[in-house]
Amino acid sequence: MVDFIRDIIAEDLKANKNGGRVHTRFPPEPNGYLHIGHAKSICLNFGLAAESHGLCNLRFDDTNPSKESTEYIRSIKSDIKWLGFDWGDRLFYTSDYFEKLYQYAVQLIKKGKAYVCDLSPEEIREYRGTLTEPGKDSPYRNRSAEESLDLFERMRAGEFKEVSRVLRAKIDMSSPNLNMRDPVLYRILRTPHHRTGDKWCIYPMYDYAHCLSDSIEGITHSICTLEFEDHRPLYDWVLDQLDVDCHPQQIEFARLNLNYTVMSKRKLLELVENGHVSGWDDPRMPTLSGLRRRGYTPESIRNFCERIGVAKRDSVIDVALLEHCIREDLNRSVPRVMAVLRPLRVVIDNYPEGQVEELDSPYHPDDPSVGSRKIPFSRVLYIEQEDFLEDPPKKFFRLSPGREVRLRYAYYITCVDVVKDKQSGEVVELHCTYDPETRGGWSRDGRKVKATLHWVSECDSIPAGVRLYNHLFTKENPNEEKGNIDFKTYLNPNSLEILTSCRVEPVLANAAPGSRYQFERLGYFCLDSVDSSDGALVFNRTVTLRDSWAKIAKKEKL
Ligand code: ATP
Ligand code: MG
Repeated sequence: MVDFIRDIIAEDLKANKNGGRVHTRFPPEPNGYLHIGHAKSICLNFGLAAESHGLCNLRFDDTNPSKESTEYIRSIKSDIKWLGFDWGDRLFYTSDYFEKLYQYAVQLIKKGKAYVCDLSPEEIREYRGTLTEPGKDSPYRNRSAEESLDLFERMRAGEFKEVSRVLRAKIDMSSPNLNMRDPVLYRILRTPHHRTGDKWCIYPMYDYAHCLSDSIEGITHSICTLEFEDHRPLYDWVLDQLDVDCHPQQIEFARLNLNYTVMSKRKLLELVENGHVSGWDDPRMPTLSGLRRRGYTPESIRNFCERIGVAKRDSVIDVALLEHCIREDLNRSVPRVMAVLRPLRVVIDNYPEGQVEELDSPYHPDDPSVGSRKIPFSRVLYIEQEDFLEDPPKKFFRLSPGREVRLRYAYYITCVDVVKDKQSGEVVELHCTYDPETRGGWSRDGRKVKATLHWVSECDSIPAGVRLYNHLFTKENPNEEKGNIDFKTYLNPNSLEILTSCRVEPVLANAAPGSRYQFERLGYFCLDSVDSSDGALVFNRTVTLRDSWAKIAKKEKL
């Protein structure tokens, strides 16, 4: 695999920059659960380190206590492990460095590179200027270092109200880069912190804390997303003013965007808080915990991240590619069984009452090592309602009156009668005959049928619930908030379909939570680990069998 970041690192290694070391970090803010976009960053940071015998740290960027929590920390750690990465003994928190960061700020003040500013937030904004107009110096910009030092110490000691004062870098109020117009480095925030309690009431801003945390940890390549490109001069400025041993190189790459998906944590939190989904791990969410519950494997997500690659230009990836990756993985590996989602009762008139045959059936047609199981066949069966039409159109080859079809691994059957509900006219039962000469599902006389149906037997199958999913949003780009239209306007009212009277093969009675199957002709399913209990089975459909990505790829010759 090559990309522009790997090129940079290869060059650095060749030049023996950083003494030939590669040290990266993944720096989540613990203010939400990880999503598939974070997976791209995790695979990149941990991947780069592994490829060059380097190290990758996990660092919680916990500088905003009002939005952060230990629940998020726990989930982030478990999601990274699940994805298959390990930070070893290098788990860090920006809050571990609060004292060091404070001392660095004192150094900046002493050097005349930072000052305490008493402007209100509105005034600061006003003084900042715009993209076309330079800013104005704050009236506090030239107060003495002694005065700023005294005020900064008293800010720390809790003498002042929130937003009454901030510490700002003294750079250039007329810089074309707005981030360089005396950015705020510290603010007063009287919110207890999940790790440091009420020890601090001033908190460092991201741009100040991030470069210094990277430097403290000896990071060589600090990889972040494109929106930080304009912050790089500030990243470098802070490190250049201070006497630090390590000055990491910030490199930006394009964040992952998926169609029909929102990826901002603020928006995901809103979906959770307003009950549009059942939680961060709702199988419709693009979070790692949601994808896991949906049935995604870590391999499929890593494979997806490898395929999309790393680039410097923003793009939107088709969610069909993600689905293609999980389908490819499950197609190879998981057992195939039969389940009927919307059962239609079928009575085989010429099959002896009370007789049960155990039909030997392989779990995987191409891979005998996946094993086999026995499926009970008896006089009363269920097939899928949609596999029968009384009055079939031309291209419908499944069951209809007088027609013969194959029951997978079992027999040929022919429909001889249709029973309907007297009131509704709805078909409630079929009567069929079977041909005993077709055991195993093939005819000895070479007779052909045009359809193979899946089925389960009435007395041996077990009840199950099934959840079918659609895109959470109806619009390809739900982030396009035109005018006052909110992204939630595009929520898909049909993103979840709950089926409660499904029937599955008896062998699934022993399925472990989280285990994955192909239900023949219906897709890949995963036994829900939250809602399946006490023998109640609930399956989530991970993905259908129809591969829309393969079609797109073929058309566009990808
Ligand atoms: P949001 O903007 O939704 O709050 P964030 O970028 O602030 O997300 P962080 O917890 O700060 O979330 O992200 C941790 C790391 O993951 C950062 O280095 C960030 O650049 C990266 N990251 C976040 N979202 C994506 C994405 N969609 N694609 C690739 N990397 C991402
Ligand atoms: Mg961030």
